Parts: sequence; structure tokens; C-alpha cells
Amino acid sequence: MLCPFCNHSESKVTDSRNAIEQNAIRRRRECLECQKRFTTFETVDLTIQVHKRDGRYEDFQQDKLVRGLDAACRHTRISHEQVLSLASQITATLMERQIREISTTELGAIVMRHLKGLDTVSYIRFACVYRRFKDMDELMDEIQSISIEEEALTKEGEHASHKN
Ligand SMILES: [Zn+2]
Repeated sequence: MLCPFCNHSESKVTDSRNAIEQNAIRRRRECLECQKRFTTFETVDLTIQVHKRDGRYEDFQQDKLVRGLDAACRHTRISHEQVLSLASQITATLMERQIREISTTELGAIVMRHLKGLDTVSYIRFACVYRRFKDMDELMDEIQSISIEEEALTKEGEHASHKN
């Protein structure tokens, strides 16, 4: 990536949060030679294939991830805005790995790793459902239909956090 001001070839990324817009990763960079700042848009092929346990493939969809995360994070301290940012981070993680496919097991593990640092209740809820189903599709469907169970889980979570 050449600096648009001096054509120097080396620059550093200055913003650690890589925004994803229109299938592109936007990065703020600083030229190591002239120190001027510029923005790059790295276009990415978004068609990551999710390899499901039954052997079928499905396109990775961030929307679907957002719906599942929203359901897992309902009645927790995590807001919808945080869910959106979480989903972008997860998508960015996948893009940066430049992989063409990922298994549902791996994808679930990435989601859990991101959730773990944010909120215990959501993490436990996601982990319970995920480990039972082992399939992203079933998981997303299930997570959206656990509105009855989740009240109890939220109470358990609150109870558990009081003990700490
Ligand atoms: Zn420069």
C-alpha cells in the first residue's frame, strides 16, 4: 500500500478498530516516511462458507450472527449497539484470517471467545445452547425461541454474580 503523498511503501495502521463498510475493511494508516495519514479500503470476498456438521455448506451471514447474538444477549448488560460491534469484530476476525471456509464448531468457538470477555450471562446462555446443538443453524433458531428459559437463566446469572 503506497502512501498517496510520498509513495513510500510502508505505513502503520493507526486505528485498532477496523470498520467494515460495504464489504470492505476501512483502515486509517500513517505513512512511516512522511507521517501523513490516509485511509485504505480493502475489499474482501465475503463469501466465507460455513461448513455445517451435516456436511452441507452455507454462506456466512453477519445478519444471522447479529440475530443470534441479540437473542443471547437479551436481558443482559449488552446493548444492541454492542452486539452490532461484536458481530463486526467477529466478521473482521474471519476476514483477516482470509479463510474461505469455517466449521460451525470453529465459528461457535470464536463467538464464545468474544462473548466471554463481555458478559457472563450471555456467555453461559450461548455456550449452553451451542454445546447442545453443535450447529449454527439450529442454534440460531433455538436461541431465538428460548424467551421462557432466559428469564430463569438471567436470574441464575444475577444470583451467581452476587456470590462473586
Ligand atoms: Zn508518505
